[in-house]
Amino acid sequence: MPTSELLRPYRGRFAPSPTGPLHLGSLTAALGSWLLARARGGEWLVRIEDLDPPREVPGMADQHVADLAAFGMVSDRPVARQSERVDLYARSLERLRENGLAFECRCSRSDLAANGGVHVACVEHPSGRQAAWRLRIPERELAFVDRIRGHYRQSLRADTGDFVLRRSDGNWAYQLAVVVDDAEQGITEVVRGADLLDSTPRQIFLQQCLGVPTPTYAHLPLLLDADGAKLSKSLAAAPVDPGDPLPALRLAWRQLGQDEDVVASARSVGHLLELAIAGFDPLRIPPTDQTAAM
Ligand code: GLU
Repeated sequence: MPTSELLRPYRGRFAPSPTGPLHLGSLTAALGSWLLARARGGEWLVRIEDLDPPREVPGMADQHVADLAAFGMVSDRPVARQSERVDLYARSLERLRENGLAFECRCSRSDLAANGGVHVACVEHPSGRQAAWRLRIPERELAFVDRIRGHYRQSLRADTGDFVLRRSDGNWAYQLAVVVDDAEQGITEVVRGADLLDSTPRQIFLQQCLGVPTPTYAHLPLLLDADGAKLSKSLAAAPVDPGDPLPALRLAWRQLGQDEDVVASARSVGHLLELAIAGFDPLRIPPTDQTAAM
């Protein structure tokens, strides 16, 4: 690790979307990001990613914050909500637009179907009624080193194309909001589920376009069903029970590759987390997805 990274105060975050209750996968991401922050004596923030009203469940954001507290994890700063930060996204889009990096586009999903949904140029007669804003993507290979998964690279133009910054329905796209917020909140380490590994090159490219620092990234193992499929939010991912937090915390601890004996004697949430901080070994976090150890 370069010395400059050691000197930088660590600030991590957990950024749930309030589309459903916390499940084992999200609890594992919360615990993993919390432990990595605590292991480095750093701060840990909660940010609610509520930018997709059609998919959100009313009251779920507050529920997440309350449930995390029941699992012993409380944001070190006031909980941020993306829905209250849209001016920041608008300003960043404006900057990109002024620099000729963002453009309006009326291509609909079906217009792009022939190219697998990837936008590399607007079709001749776009059929969308409302325009979206996209980021112009050059021919470019983007590589980075994930702290857990190691080297990862993507050919941006072929793999993602000109991706959306603001959707045609007016909602802000995740990729823009996450980059603006991570930068504005001074996040130094992004620790999250490996389902977002393939979003990371887009986010790094966007950071470069906006001239903001790139945090380090660590992608935690996804939980798979017994048949190897991703543990879906609706199906096998039963909500964890904040009324009985110890069993779910123990499972999340094991999903992070940690030794279950370390927390075996825990009698309360506070006690379990104390033992967890003392016995946490980041090098044991598996670099591959895991079958849920239920
Ligand atoms: N809000 C995203 C999710 O719940 C996570 C975003 C992130 O950690 O970058 O899947």
